[in-house]
Amino acid sequence: MGHGRAESIAGIIIILFLTFVAYEILTSAVDKLLFGITEAPTNWAIFMAIIEIIVNIFLNKYQMRIGKKINSPAIIADAKQQGMDVLSNVAILASVILSQGGFTFMDPLVGFLMGLFILKAVFEVGKDNINNIMGKVPDEDIIGKIKEVTSSTDGVCGVHNIKINYFGSYATLSLHIEVNPKLSLIESHNLTHYTQNKIKDQIDIIQAVVGHICPFGEEYDHDD
Ligand SMILES: [Zn+2]
Ligand SMILES: [Zn+2]
Repeated sequence: MGHGRAESIAGIIIILFLTFVAYEILTSAVDKLLFGITEAPTNWAIFMAIIEIIVNIFLNKYQMRIGKKINSPAIIADAKQQGMDVLSNVAILASVILSQGGFTFMDPLVGFLMGLFILKAVFEVGKDNINNIMGKVPDEDIIGKIKEVTSSTDGVCGVHNIKINYFGSYATLSLHIEVNPKLSLIESHNLTHYTQNKIKDQIDIIQAVVGHICPFGEEYDHDD
């Protein structure tokens, strides 16, 4: 849980930072558009833009790999932002070159677009972060795997009420396991533990499973 909370806090910090950056870029672009400050940028600006593109491409690749490896929404969100930064940097480079060529009006327009790009990234990070905090977005892939694992277990007739809680790099699962109503308590108890362990063993991200037993063939009318 500690790790999951750290992930969520990291997401919030990224959101605050990006919102600030977007605000700065948008207000400066609007100022330039309104008050028409038009200075031709130097070669230094071109050099910096190229360096930024290279750095951001490496950061993006690195973060995507780590984020997917440890299943961290915050890191994947950050990687998406790095991808956005590459686009913005290319736009900056283009606008710097155009400004030097005399098209000074390009600079604030590109700045404005950059600000919008970053705002879009803020929404993406925010969405991932809310999913992370709420833990209420059952991933279709994981649900598919859970059904695969349970349906290949002798004695399990079906599952329902699958609930997954994400905590950054791991998740917990609760589910209802449908079994033959004629099973004894000892048999269904053993089957529950067997199924719980099988899910934990075969699906990496799931580190805890609570199984509830339901008699197969009954009408189910329960939410939890
Ligand atoms: Zn049930
Ligand atoms: Zn038990």
